[in-house]
Amino acid sequence: MSEPIILGQPTVGDEELAAIAEVFKSGWLAGAGPTCRKFEERFAVTAGTSHALTTSNCGAALHLALHVLGAKAGDEVVVADYTFPATGHAVMYTGAKPVFADIRPDIWTVDPAAVEAAITPRTTGIVAVDLAGQPADYDELRAIADKHGLFLIEDAACAAGATYKGRPAGSLADIAAFSFHGRKGITSGEGGALTTNNAEWDARVRKLHTYGIEPALGRASSDTLPIPTFHELGWNYRLSDVQAAIMNVQLDRLPSLLAARTHVAERYGELLKGVEGIELPVTAPDRTHPWQAYIITIDPSISRDQVALKLRERGVQCNFGTYASHVQPIYGATEPCPVSADLFRRHLAIPMHANLTDEEVERAAEAVREVVAELS
Ligand SMILES: *Cc1c(COP(=O)(O)O)cnc(C)c1O
Repeated sequence: MSEPIILGQPTVGDEELAAIAEVFKSGWLAGAGPTCRKFEERFAVTAGTSHALTTSNCGAALHLALHVLGAKAGDEVVVADYTFPATGHAVMYTGAKPVFADIRPDIWTVDPAAVEAAITPRTTGIVAVDLAGQPADYDELRAIADKHGLFLIEDAACAAGATYKGRPAGSLADIAAFSFHGRKGITSGEGGALTTNNAEWDARVRKLHTYGIEPALGRASSDTLPIPTFHELGWNYRLSDVQAAIMNVQLDRLPSLLAARTHVAERYGELLKGVEGIELPVTAPDRTHPWQAYIITIDPSISRDQVALKLRERGVQCNFGTYASHVQPIYGATEPCPVSADLFRRHLAIPMHANLTDEEVERAAEAVREVVAELS
């Protein structure tokens, strides 16, 4: 049998290794150093914001965002239901309660009408999710947030390089959080970033991500001996400079990685068009999709799990789409989110990464066509 077709895979190579060697030579391997700073300045440009802070992961960035925007015990925060549960978890880290809102059936981002319906006198904010990287409805969400005096956070974990009405992901809410986990479009294995246009929030999260004090880099450049004072409880949520070195190369690669993923999505679109029993993913005309994942929807008359098992037998890796949060026991949620619950059962992610060859994409698409026909 031929080699399995991998579901998701990073694109890393000699350039990343050379960048790591440079950091080794510099002696600054810890976080919040010059290599992180360089990446932050460059990533802010990509995100279209005046500030970017590197973090150990996206969950940490979400926690910092919720914390500086004031989420606390007794509050409710409306969260997009269909997501990796880091989104709901981050709300719980602050002591606030995540209240899940259902998603749009077409592009799977949070439904603004469901957000509005979930608002109570306790609600203090909204967290929207860019689904597989495709941005949510930020104009509508901004209007709802402003009307009710709420903060708005963008979970842009998968969204590096995406746009909404010409504006980059990362600039679409009060604060955005990115992930550089190995399954995302650009990666340092683990990692994340927080982006914002607000200088005050940036200054606060910068301290909070290093236990609550001014990072050592700021202190090193002083001509006195500044001894930091701890005023506010912070965490160690730093990305290391070793990881930042990888991210500087990944950022150089971003345009070509996006082009490669877009090419794969277009090929799937051609090869799977009109296949009975599946629906293909939709991109809203006013946004661009970074294709962190390529997710097809299996008709209710066919078992998604059987399709998945048969594809795996044929060497085509695949998985469910993402999670319906409200059914996770950890949250004890009572609100129904029928669209999210349904797609949680019917979504199938098929191979999508920048290293796929045309031949692999054709083989994967052919396997999908045949397996779906066989099970229909
Ligand atoms: C991957 C992901 C996260 C978590 O990212 P980490 O860097 O692992 O913390 C959060 N939200 C969404 C939407 C994700 O896809």
